[in-house]
Amino acid sequence: MKKLILPILIFVSVCGFAQTKYGLKATTFPEYKQTLTASPEKELVNLEQFIPGIVLDIRYATTNNFTGEKIYNLARAYSRKSVAESLKKAQAEFKKAGVGIKIFDAYRPYKATVKFYEVYHDTTYVASPYRGSRHNRGCAIDMTIVDLKTGKELQMPTEFDSFKKEAWPRTPVKDPVIKKNRDLIISVMERNGFKVNASEWWHFDFVGWKNYEVMDIDYEELETR
Ligand SMILES: [Zn+2]
Repeated sequence: MKKLILPILIFVSVCGFAQTKYGLKATTFPEYKQTLTASPEKELVNLEQFIPGIVLDIRYATTNNFTGEKIYNLARAYSRKSVAESLKKAQAEFKKAGVGIKIFDAYRPYKATVKFYEVYHDTTYVASPYRGSRHNRGCAIDMTIVDLKTGKELQMPTEFDSFKKEAWPRTPVKDPVIKKNRDLIISVMERNGFKVNASEWWHFDFVGWKNYEVMDIDYEELETR
């Protein structure tokens, strides 16, 4: 019986039928490549290349994140092409207000979502691995805005990835400058096809996220083949 296990595992992984530990099907790189001919909007595009001037601070490629561990080998921001096009429009609108986009995280391989859940079980703040995250679909952006002259982040109610109630977009803010900054990021993003998360002022979901599958593709795979 033991002899059968390895061939079965190889068969399952080659055919891409492998279900994850939590029963969710996550798209593999070969499957993703196959869908692109019929659905070019599903392409994962490099946001740094697609939107000139965008700034990256990919926290999960460092130890400066809530897990205290480096989750990604490469500091990259990818999203589906349709998401990138909306983000490009938002960046143009932000520019008129003298600010630009800084990205903390964008497309996230499914395996990272599993890791987050196993570190921190509260699904108010981390996605359930049974459903996956909108980041896994290439349809969510964690971001803030920076002053285009100084490059400095605008003051917001909390830091990125704060688990405090002040991070909720509906929590009242007393400081008028912070309120203005939070209103600006949310209003521009929501005018351009995104919706802010109910407990994170920095997280924006692309409105059409349901049309895109959860993926478990590493950045290395996107760049080496
Ligand atoms: Zn997020």
